[in-house]
Amino acid sequence: MKSLSQQVVSMKPSGIRRFFDLAQTMENVVSLGVGEPDFITPWNVREASYAALEQGYTAYSANAGLLELRQEIASYMTDRFGATYDPATELIVTTGASQALDIAFRALLNPGDEVIVVEPAFVSYGPLIELAGGTVVPVACRPENGFRLNRDDVEAAITERTKAMLLCFPSNPTGATMTGEELTEIAELATKHDLWVVSDEIYAELSYDEPFTSFATLHDMRERTIVVNGFSKAFAMTGWRLGFTCAPEVVTREMLKVHQYGMMCAPTLVQFGGLEALRSRDQHVPKMVKSYRQRRNYFIQALNDAGLPTHVPGGAFYAFPSIRHTGLTSEEFAERLLLEERVAVVPGNAFGASGEGFVRASYATSVEQLQEAIRRIDRFMKQFEVTTTT
Ligand code: PMP
Repeated sequence: MKSLSQQVVSMKPSGIRRFFDLAQTMENVVSLGVGEPDFITPWNVREASYAALEQGYTAYSANAGLLELRQEIASYMTDRFGATYDPATELIVTTGASQALDIAFRALLNPGDEVIVVEPAFVSYGPLIELAGGTVVPVACRPENGFRLNRDDVEAAITERTKAMLLCFPSNPTGATMTGEELTEIAELATKHDLWVVSDEIYAELSYDEPFTSFATLHDMRERTIVVNGFSKAFAMTGWRLGFTCAPEVVTREMLKVHQYGMMCAPTLVQFGGLEALRSRDQHVPKMVKSYRQRRNYFIQALNDAGLPTHVPGGAFYAFPSIRHTGLTSEEFAERLLLEERVAVVPGNAFGASGEGFVRASYATSVEQLQEAIRRIDRFMKQFEVTTTT
């Protein structure tokens, strides 16, 4: 048999998967491993897709998505974030933020182009950039800075070949947020070095302490930013696979070609659900956000009390505690916590080298489960007390 794609064969499977597979074989596991809401999609949203099915909407939609949905997304972007987009030429409805990222990189990159990736980062970024022919240049967010991005660190990584920066605030896995002022410093670099920006704003709604700033609304950024967003997190719709891009027409036109040939369109029934989710968002999103905020407040304090120093994440639904003082690597820590106490977390190195020394624990699970996890973590951490006091 002829050999398969070298690039794909040499790709490592996601570092999260191994722990999922191990946890699947065990009973009585408290899972803080998955990055998805514990809410079921609100009933009226499910009903809207159900009604669309009954009414026979079983055909393709326009490649860019149902016009009605794009109009609703445009209003949402304006009302919620103050960003204005033309639904006819600047929006594409995708199958999740994942596909939005894929078409963004394929439209932007030539072989050898460098993309600055803010790390620790979501596991898909690197592979998607490489599949599109790009090279990843990681820039670490420093723990002592609450995992916020430092302007000088970014500038030091820029070369002649840098094409784009990929930002994600609130961040998966750290939960860090950046204020509008802090982001403005990064935006100035994009102007100065003529860079594209891909801004993954999937956790925009899940900002607990400061108002969220969409990168495209900063000075000079609208014309050089591809905003990626989706329904998975804020609307509790991970399994629906629905997302979107907002970007100027010059790049939307090119992304649409990739989307058209690779996907045709996002599933039509699912788009009807998305439409209802946006229309009824005031009924649902604030309640879910309030609940995540309460869980964050409880969980971060409890982790710190249990001996795992954890910065307070301003958004998303992840805690990113330091495990350095245990003397274990993040993989050893995660494996032992799973085997000894049956709590599943994700080793920080799954999110890039700068994630070593940390683990990611999602608090998008019930308070009872979180309390049980804390009881077990507390017990697990007792064995390291000696190490910390000697
Ligand atoms: N970006 C980030 C930062 C994420 O955490 C995720 C999901 N874990 C995605 C994108 C992908 O989201 P979707 O379900 O919309 O494909």
